[in-house]
Parts: sequence; C-alpha cells; structure tokens
Amino acid sequence: MVDLKIVQGKNIKLYDVAYRCTLCSKVMRLGKAVKLEYNDLPALCGTIVQQKQFRGNPYFQTAPFEVPCKCTNGNCGIAYFAGLIEVKGEL
Ligand SMILES: [Zn+2]
Repeated sequence: MVDLKIVQGKNIKLYDVAYRCTLCSKVMRLGKAVKLEYNDLPALCGTIVQQKQFRGNPYFQTAPFEVPCKCTNGNCGIAYFAGLIEVKGEL
C-alpha cells in the first residue's frame, strides 16, 4: 500500500490521472494535477488497478476508475484508467 498523504522524495512531480477510451483510443486527463513521487508510481498504479479504486489522497478518492467518452465518430465509449501522465511545469 502506498500512502499518498506522505509525499516525500527526490522525484516529486505533478501527474494527471489519465484514461484511454476502448473504442476510439482517445486519451483523456481528469481534473487537476496531483503531486506524486515518481518512484512510488508503479506500486501506486498496481494498487489502483488491483482494487479498482483510488485511495489515500483527497483528490484521488474522488477520481472514477472509468469515464464515458464522447467519441469523435459519433460513438460513446468507456475510457478506463490508463495511468498517470506527468504534467510539465511548476510544482
Ligand atoms: Zn472514445
């Protein structure tokens, strides 16, 4: 279990929660970026996928595991948690 409330380390960066649509493959980002330690990410993503929920961080707790996608071709797909994308910029 990764405790996101304690964010310490040398590689703290900002990350967006990312989703990929199963129909159109569009990658979407949700909400505001969260500070995370890069070295914790593999364990964190593993826990998220295993438990199908976000926990341990106030923002993550409200993030859904899947979101609807208004595909550009007129379809409506479901986008699932795909990972965490680094947000370039100021911490
Ligand atoms: Zn789509």
